[in-house]
Amino acid sequence: MSNLVKTALISTLFLFSCQPADTDANGTDTVKADTKAEISVARKGVGEADILKADASSWLSHGRTYSEQRHSPLNKISQNNIADLGLQWSYDLGTSRGIEVTPIVHDGIIYITSTWNIVTALDAKSGAKLWDFDPVVDKEQAAKGCCDVVNRGVAIWGNDIFTGTIDGRLISLDAKTGKKNWDIQTVDKKYPYTITGAPRVVKGKVLIGNGGAELGVRGYFTAYDAESGKQLWRFYTVPGNPADGFENETMEMAAKTWTGEYWAAGGGGTAWDSMAYDPELDLLYVGVGNGSPWNQSIRSPDGGDNLFLSSIVAVKPDTGEYVWHYQTTPGETWDYTATQHMILAELEIEGKQRKVIMQAPKNGFFYVLDRETGEFISGKNFVPVTWATHIDDETGRPVEVPAARYGGKAPVLQLPGPLGAHNWHPMSYSPDTGLVYIPAQEAPWVYGDKEGYEYQNGQWNTGTEFQFAALPSDVATFKALKAMVKGRLLAWDPVNQKEAWVHEHDGPWNGGILSTSGGLVFQGTADAHFAAYNDKTGDKLWDFFTETGIVAAPITYELDGDQYIAVASGWGGSFTLGYGGVFPTGSKATVGRLLVFKLGADMALTLKADTSSVDKSSLPTTDASAEVIAKGFNAYANTCIVCHGDQAYSSGLVPNLRYSPITKSPEAWKAIVMDGALATQGMPKWEGLIDNETSEAIRAYVISEANSVFTEEFYENN
Ligand code: CA
Repeated sequence: MSNLVKTALISTLFLFSCQPADTDANGTDTVKADTKAEISVARKGVGEADILKADASSWLSHGRTYSEQRHSPLNKISQNNIADLGLQWSYDLGTSRGIEVTPIVHDGIIYITSTWNIVTALDAKSGAKLWDFDPVVDKEQAAKGCCDVVNRGVAIWGNDIFTGTIDGRLISLDAKTGKKNWDIQTVDKKYPYTITGAPRVVKGKVLIGNGGAELGVRGYFTAYDAESGKQLWRFYTVPGNPADGFENETMEMAAKTWTGEYWAAGGGGTAWDSMAYDPELDLLYVGVGNGSPWNQSIRSPDGGDNLFLSSIVAVKPDTGEYVWHYQTTPGETWDYTATQHMILAELEIEGKQRKVIMQAPKNGFFYVLDRETGEFISGKNFVPVTWATHIDDETGRPVEVPAARYGGKAPVLQLPGPLGAHNWHPMSYSPDTGLVYIPAQEAPWVYGDKEGYEYQNGQWNTGTEFQFAALPSDVATFKALKAMVKGRLLAWDPVNQKEAWVHEHDGPWNGGILSTSGGLVFQGTADAHFAAYNDKTGDKLWDFFTETGIVAAPITYELDGDQYIAVASGWGGSFTLGYGGVFPTGSKATVGRLLVFKLGADMALTLKADTSSVDKSSLPTTDASAEVIAKGFNAYANTCIVCHGDQAYSSGLVPNLRYSPITKSPEAWKAIVMDGALATQGMPKWEGLIDNETSEAIRAYVISEANSVFTEEFYENN
């Protein structure tokens, strides 16, 4: 490693394949009804008119409305009485993994998803369970996902609930009983596709994309008939192999922006999260992800914009016909997805009312576009960025810093990194203040070429060397890099493209946002607090300790005249898996819950004992050479790190290998790593991907970290 790289090393990240700490092996595909709770509210079907009406007592679509503003006009809970907000009930999800769900609320019932895609219906007033549904996902397939076994929620339409699964299925359930209507496979399981996003339903069509661009897939999103599950259309986000023929003229057009054998690793462009819909324009907007491999010098060696990577694409929802696109990061090479949350609003810009779409994608720029045409209106960085100086106002294209395009060059320390200046955590837009509230962060990364890269199905295929980005063993550099990593709640004025106010958090990877007409902005944090802020000033008005950190976004609803605020705790996902151990936050990361708040309530949260402590009295030892340990480090940094954590120190979501008895036993290690003894629990079998010598070198590296100066105490104090 060069000195440049050594002094540059930093981190941020995603996951890989993970052995779950919880073992919820409740096998069968059945509905478990709770006989004590009864559904007392009359059921009626949800249609487009209901979603458009945007009745504030419910939460009928992922972003509350098709415009995805995540702002509620409810104002019974306000700046004046927020001090009286307390916990009304909580529901224990029985998991220690990340919970990213946005609940859906209809007719007094709240629908949530949890680890391994368990769907649960609760009485929204009492928290009593009405039913739950276990789709019995294929956990070995789940291990091919990039970023924890998470899910962001269900959709509702008619009398049915729709949910995607980590193993690529789309399932329709009866909303009242949880009984399955249909269950279809949306992906080719030969490839590492996963679904973590929430479906949307537009005009009776259930829309769902998928993820997998870290490991190598071709992205697309699909519309299915809500009644029958029949596929209606599919929109590919990147072109396939020309030899197979292009699906349509749009793909033929897109292919002109690619070079070389771009289809070899799928090309990427997965649409794994954001969608919005404008019923007047009848346009569906979909956010498209990064390239596969990340490294454009490998993916499309002679350059090109590589459509529709990192773009917002507008299509006709009836047919999937392409209408327009705007590409945030042409020739994407840094995992700068444009899958981040998109918001539709009407803004007055230079004296004119404009129908806009707004996005703060990973690349660090805040975009305002005309959503009728895709025309670029304005773009400004909302955090410090080092890869581009600005967006050119004429062309709407970023003006890159030459060193940023690392293919064939020296590794480069850059802001943002692949975790993004803003990731999937939803933002909100308040029409009252005209501000967008962004869960923003600064999380740098070192990008560098991977020497001798070759595509391997089942491996990460980024074409970048992750060892450059692992945290250094030099204490001073470690501290300096750690100090660069930040998180904040940012109130952004989209018309003037400037900060209105900011609240600094202790670190990154905090929760999504809800704003309300009570003059409040709600956000949970990595350090296990759920707080409310004055929407105009950013003053913190209320705070509740949630024990477990929060990444999910809150929602609000009204029942029998009372306003409720709901948020899920469960600090997980890519940063938590990769860096939650070395960046301890105070979150115990052990108890996923749905927490529901109401004025005048004062239920105490039943805190759970920290069971994450492990026996450190006898650490494993190794007599492996420095060379072997270095080899183990390289292999670990390119595979295991994304789940088991930088410096082999996990957040507790998955076993901490340093203190695992398995690390002490070469036989047990081989059984799990090479032979797949825990494959059904999500720890994949590595046979065929690495050899036994490498597996043993990884074990030696883990042992060397266990005996290093980087201890739990060190991480907590530095
Ligand atoms: Ca990605």
